[in-house]
Amino acid sequence: MSLEQTELPDWYPLKRVSGKISVDDMITLGKKKIDLLLELVKDPEKIMLTNPDPKVESIGGLVLRIATAVTEDRFFQSWLVESEGDLLSIRFQHAKLSERLVILRDLFGDFILGWNAITSFFNVSKDEIWQEIYYLVKDQYKKKKDLTNLFNAVYSSENGVIAVRFWEAPRLIKRKRGILRKGWLITFTDYLTRELKWKFQRKLEEHIKKLIEEKRQGSEKLLVLKDAMNELMEYWRNRRDVISPRREFTLKGKKLYERPDLWPLCMRTLLSRLESTGYLPHGERLQLGLFLKRLGMTLEEQMEFWYKFAVDNVGISWDEFEKKGGYYIRHIYGAVGSRKDYEAPKCETIISKYFCPYKTFSSAQLKDVLKSFHPDMDEKVLREILEKARIGEPTQACKIHLFYIAKRRYKITEITHPLQFVRLAFMARRRKRGDTGNVEENSE
Ligand code: SF4
Repeated sequence: MSLEQTELPDWYPLKRVSGKISVDDMITLGKKKIDLLLELVKDPEKIMLTNPDPKVESIGGLVLRIATAVTEDRFFQSWLVESEGDLLSIRFQHAKLSERLVILRDLFGDFILGWNAITSFFNVSKDEIWQEIYYLVKDQYKKKKDLTNLFNAVYSSENGVIAVRFWEAPRLIKRKRGILRKGWLITFTDYLTRELKWKFQRKLEEHIKKLIEEKRQGSEKLLVLKDAMNELMEYWRNRRDVISPRREFTLKGKKLYERPDLWPLCMRTLLSRLESTGYLPHGERLQLGLFLKRLGMTLEEQMEFWYKFAVDNVGISWDEFEKKGGYYIRHIYGAVGSRKDYEAPKCETIISKYFCPYKTFSSAQLKDVLKSFHPDMDEKVLREILEKARIGEPTQACKIHLFYIAKRRYKITEITHPLQFVRLAFMARRRKRGDTGNVEENSE
């Protein structure tokens, strides 16, 4: 059967679906898809070993895109796009060859696969193509072992090379990962499949954008789903913020970056969210990364931290991570790029640009999160914190949280920096142990 006649697999999230579905079924499938995407972080192997349920993966995926469009929740959107990308990478690795080819065609359009097809289509010899591409990429393969692997995977394998229309793989052109011939990009098949997640995510974003436009133009069929989609969003927020660390995950030790119990709520929530979902959007990664750096975590430790715990590193080797995420982490340590030694942002910046729970969360979410960290928190303290957050005074709410953790009241007007919070919480603990330390802020 030719590729044109082959259908996309039923589990593929971008496969067109038709037919009718009740709102209740939409909610059920949406929730199941959320559970699946969250499970991906905790137990990717389990996901690999289970056969996909097409209804959940495809229809559930569509429901979640609708939820994104109807609510326009940007955190949900970035989580969804990232998680769907990771799920697709796993499904693709374990799919049949025919399924993989049809997915490649859906994402990259027409392609020519294999040495025989390419050499005859472009009327060029195999050695010529191999040498030209190899010349561009050889610096990546300094070790003899890597070069042998490349040779076996590309030169000695009939399907080691592929051609796509050049505009379909702009990043490969930018990185010089292939050669151009008659409007086509000829590249190693492995390079193209590594672009799969990125390409899929762009397509997913396009779908969401179209749905958002439809909604803004007053589409009744979307607007009527508002309550149902809000219910899904609430479900996601509750599941995401529930403290459910992966077993192997522990930050325990004496150093301040190993003491989340002394951190302000913003950083504890981000850490917990990373534990439960394996994902943080760019700004929140930066917020947590710079905080950990200023608490004394070394570059090497932080590299290890993100490699282990961020879901987009599932299934990638340490070498690949070093090239991909590693660059970004080295950047915040000033080891590459602009070589600036970045400071951790202060509360004012976090509140306006990043994540401060007292600013972002609803009262109900805030209550849940505080209760999950402090099940014994006094109702009066809880009410005071919620009230300060409700009236738009996040740094005051944070101050009351600090007093609760420190078990003492400092003479400070507000919390201005997450590091100030840690320092005061730490000093209070030391004082309790009999060491008065050197506290700058006077205590009442
Ligand atoms: S007030 Fe500052 S330290 Fe406290 S949670 Fe908000 S951003 Fe974090």
